[in-house]
Amino acid sequence: MENIRVHDKQFKIYISQADIQKRVAEVAAAIKEDYKGLNPLFIGILNGSFIFAADLFRNLTIPAEISFIKLASYKGTSSTGNVVTAIGMEEDLHGRHVILLEDIIDTGKTLHAFLPEILHRQPASIKIATFLTKPQALQYPVTADYSCFNIDNKFVIGYGLDYDKLGRNLPALYILDEDQ
Ligand code: 5GP
Ligand code: MG
Repeated sequence: MENIRVHDKQFKIYISQADIQKRVAEVAAAIKEDYKGLNPLFIGILNGSFIFAADLFRNLTIPAEISFIKLASYKGTSSTGNVVTAIGMEEDLHGRHVILLEDIIDTGKTLHAFLPEILHRQPASIKIATFLTKPQALQYPVTADYSCFNIDNKFVIGYGLDYDKLGRNLPALYILDEDQ
């Protein structure tokens, strides 16, 4: 499938299923080297990261744990700014080597607002692994420690990412086709 329609929009193939699988395996191999003997705790941020999290975790052949959270944002005070809090965080992060799993870092706003909450729980270390990064969209000082692909500053779907709830089950990545 080269071109697909979701709701009112046309998308075209951007990164193939084979290229995604190859790259996710490479990133898993890098993480495996870095975290040998550390029993890392992966925290997948729902909904978007669930496919990436599953494939990455399956490729990781060292002892490791995984858990999932949802993020909710609300307006804090003027000193705290926007606050992003975790729903469903049952794990004790104290002393753990934590790796946050994201589908995409766009402006960086979400992770930038959420990182203080993670740090507050005193993990031994905290890193970010993201499936995608949009370097041209970045507005907050957030850096991924592991990123599978840098992409153009355009809207993408597939491999967990949706357009108004649809498209998450596409095995490849599709980009908005503005010529259509
Ligand atoms: P940020 O806080 O980094 O600006 O936004 C991150 C979130 O915005 C992602 O977790 C994702 O839910 C959503 N997002 C950003 N860019 C895209 C995109 O191109 N496609 C889709 N489907 N979601 C996106
Ligand atoms: Mg998301």
